[in-house]
Amino acid sequence: MALMTAAQYIESLRKLNTKVYMFGERIENWVDHPMIRPSINCVAMTYALAQDPQYAELMTVKSHLTGKTINRFANIHQSAEDLKNKVKMQRLLGQKTASCFQRCVGMDAFNAVYSTTFEIDEKYGTKYHENFKQFLEMVQEEDLTVDGAMTDPKGDRSKAPHGQEDPDLFVRIKERRADGIVVRGAKCHQTGSVNSHWHIVMPTMAMGPDDKDYAVSFACPSDADGLFMIYGRQSCDTRKLEDGADIDLGNRKFGGQEALVVFDDVFIPNEYIFMEGEYDFAGMLVERFAGFHRQSYGGCKVGVGDVVIGAAALAAEYNGVEKASAVKDKLIEMTHLNETLYSCGMACSCEGKPTKCGSYMIDLLLANVCKQNVTRFPYEIVRLAEDVAGGLMVTMPSQKDFDAETVVGKNGETIGDFCNKFFVGNGSCSTEDRMRVMRFLENICLGSAAVGYRTESMHGAGSPQAQRVMIARQGDLQGKKELAKRISGIK
Ligand code: SF4
Ligand code: FE
Repeated sequence: MALMTAAQYIESLRKLNTKVYMFGERIENWVDHPMIRPSINCVAMTYALAQDPQYAELMTVKSHLTGKTINRFANIHQSAEDLKNKVKMQRLLGQKTASCFQRCVGMDAFNAVYSTTFEIDEKYGTKYHENFKQFLEMVQEEDLTVDGAMTDPKGDRSKAPHGQEDPDLFVRIKERRADGIVVRGAKCHQTGSVNSHWHIVMPTMAMGPDDKDYAVSFACPSDADGLFMIYGRQSCDTRKLEDGADIDLGNRKFGGQEALVVFDDVFIPNEYIFMEGEYDFAGMLVERFAGFHRQSYGGCKVGVGDVVIGAAALAAEYNGVEKASAVKDKLIEMTHLNETLYSCGMACSCEGKPTKCGSYMIDLLLANVCKQNVTRFPYEIVRLAEDVAGGLMVTMPSQKDFDAETVVGKNGETIGDFCNKFFVGNGSCSTEDRMRVMRFLENICLGSAAVGYRTESMHGAGSPQAQRVMIARQGDLQGKKELAKRISGIK
């Protein structure tokens, strides 16, 4: 099979028996559920753009395994050019969806597992790399979306996995059989899990000998027996359940998705295992996955930032203040911050180097600096967007009020007439368009999309402290001391 179309991707989800729970109940037709569908549309965009001649060159690449054309989301990076194109692709998708399009976690997991399994095999004579290549070939051939699942619940953060009172708080091998393993545990806030055909599970931190049963990585279908998901709610999510909600949603078509993924004794056949007890490689796998995903944020959040800046500029125009120098300066500042993030995403890609197996890895220090900036700049961009747009983005009446024909005025005016009269802008746009841009900003600054643009910028791919640990490790302070000593004449 070649590349899937967006429609084929959506249909392929219907064929899965993925078990999804929301508000305490199983959702049978989750593909058409109004709270879930926008997130599916986002992933579908990764398929649609690959079919679009305008973007096909960026969105597709030749597989290094088979030579066939594949979606770049299933690629193992073969050069610094590949790394840069990955970031450019993510910026493009951010621009097209103004949301988290989810498919990157799988891509980043592929690249981390590919290079790490090679090095595990080199040391232990295992055959994980071969297992993984077989799996990846299937993913590329069938153009699948795969969730990269790393974050365990962790329970008492002061204790290692084996030291937890409840042994299930990190995904673990519960039983070893001749033909595979049985795993138990859960992965938290999993981006795109419901919308993925398969999951790749990885350990969440560096581990010691006592955590052998927790040093496990594998692939399993999203509808495997014993696997289910409990959907995460987002701010203002039930607006999506309202009849005729359109403008009030801000972003009607697209959105992100996170869920708790539970592994309630799931059997994993040997051929899908990529690590089984090699605890000394857990840290490498985590560092590489996190590094790739920290690079990713220098693309996706920048693309969303482009849309935020555009929306703020539109709001200024509709309010009639676009020529005010203070407003212009705020838009410049937003652009400066956004492009700084992009520069970091590009820089860690340009400085990419081959790993032992030949696949390319980003510069880890620069990728961590990239993500550290992402924990800050989108917050400032959003602050400036709210500043420019004005308070109306959170105080205006509902679309139903704008549409209401109930007569309330002494001269026969309706509720809608009053709304349209008093929320008029500078005359260059309809009141409805002004309302649309305000609601869009509300969605991204405070509504359901804020999950992706704000809190995910803080905690996704690791919270700020995780990057600071890596920056400390990679920053070569000793080398810098030597520089100072040499020039200042200290022996
Ligand atoms: Fe991709 Fe960004 Fe979402 Fe991560 S947060 S899955 S990099 S869009
Ligand atoms: Fe993320």
